[in-house]
Amino acid sequence: MPPSHPFDDDKLREECGVFGVVGVQDASTFVALGLHALQHRGQEAGGIVSHDPLLGFNQARRFGYVRDSFTSQKIMETLPGPISIGHVRYSTSGSKGQTALRDVQPFFGEFSMGGAAIAHNGNITNANALRRELIERGSIFQSSSDSECIIHLMARSLQRNIPERMEDALRRVEGAFSVVAMTQTKLIGVRDPLGVRPLVLGKIGDGWALSSETCALDIIGAEYVREIEPGEMVVIDDDGVESRFPFRPRKSRFCIFEHVYFSRPDSILGGRSVYETRENIGRELAKESPVDADLVCPVPDSGTPAAIGFSLESGIPYAMGIIRNQYMGRTFIEPTEQIRNMGVRLKLNVNRALIRNKRVILVDDSVVRGTTSRKIKEMILDAGAKEVHFRIASPPTAWPCFYGVDTPQREKLLAATMTEEEMCKHLAVDSLKFISLDGLYRAVGQANGRDSENPQYCDACFSGEYPVEPADMLEQGFQLKPAAE
Ligand code: SF4
Repeated sequence: MPPSHPFDDDKLREECGVFGVVGVQDASTFVALGLHALQHRGQEAGGIVSHDPLLGFNQARRFGYVRDSFTSQKIMETLPGPISIGHVRYSTSGSKGQTALRDVQPFFGEFSMGGAAIAHNGNITNANALRRELIERGSIFQSSSDSECIIHLMARSLQRNIPERMEDALRRVEGAFSVVAMTQTKLIGVRDPLGVRPLVLGKIGDGWALSSETCALDIIGAEYVREIEPGEMVVIDDDGVESRFPFRPRKSRFCIFEHVYFSRPDSILGGRSVYETRENIGRELAKESPVDADLVCPVPDSGTPAAIGFSLESGIPYAMGIIRNQYMGRTFIEPTEQIRNMGVRLKLNVNRALIRNKRVILVDDSVVRGTTSRKIKEMILDAGAKEVHFRIASPPTAWPCFYGVDTPQREKLLAATMTEEEMCKHLAVDSLKFISLDGLYRAVGQANGRDSENPQYCDACFSGEYPVEPADMLEQGFQLKPAAE
């Protein structure tokens, strides 16, 4: 599956998707399908673990898309049994962009009471300190991934069963985690106390499924039951679903960027359709930053629902001014520098007949480095547009994310070094407006906007207010926003 945005290198990237199934025959085939539906959350590699009462635990990890490996009968035959979990990743901490196979999840641990595998979406913000402590106490790490800490912490726990060991381990972990894990008979799902990353429960026949997003339940024909609550652990076996709350309760801070960009538009988040939320964002943008123009065009594909919302609110016609080549693979642009430089035009083409002599509003989901926005603007002007106005469906991304999303260093973020006006000049467009943070909160259903005393979501990449202190990054010299800024 191609990435959901044609300029993947100028976007924030969700780093993982997790999926698990228990109580169905050949559970791993359902997991492969689920991971395929979650491919937008990570395209570098994927892995599946299954357990069969006769054949024990089995696992397969592969680079590349799910469809390229986990559709092979030869591989799937090695993953028998009625319980299975899987993971797709971009890359978590450690070897970013140069994933080693040993970093590909799920991770597996053999304990005195049996084996367990875990798949983690998120990022552990105190992983460096934990890793140092564990290594000093004798743990031998197999990977560079922060998630492996969970297995080693479980190994050190004195609890008598795996769910309780997992509770022990996760109480030591700070940051964002949605974990799907399995033992020989139990499927386990856990969300961190703030519920930063998503995790949902589904029902399939007599069995159950856990997934990062509801779109992956749809693909296997599972019925959406509910979200796993922030701070909740569910332990699922033949007896059904047992719910526990092993952490000190905190006010939830779900990632607001899931609504803007990461989640698929056909998923449901917090009881709301992601598509409708994005359309609302477009409507809010049109109210906040109207502009006289002839056409509203999305930057495909992720800007589309917001562009439709902008058009509906403003009455300015919606048009597909930019067409994306759906079949543009990554490998094609690798061979030569000359072809690589053509990248933008290979991926996108301007619908010239539509654009010529028009004042065009381009709606995109975010501006990260700004390199993409410049190139798109040039293409639109080359096609004869009279004016180009950018409307962005998120506030300026001025801070990195440390909760499981790949972000450039702060100085590489355009909004970290420039005001909106300066960015407009830098991009040389006729106007540039971002949705306000309050406008975004209204669009996700908070009628009164953001509660600045107790923000309802994590919005650290916009506000610089981190709900969990990024301990490892502070140790490496990262500077938080001064209180008065
Ligand atoms: S910092 Fe931004 S991308 Fe990261 S979890 Fe918070 S809202 Fe989401």
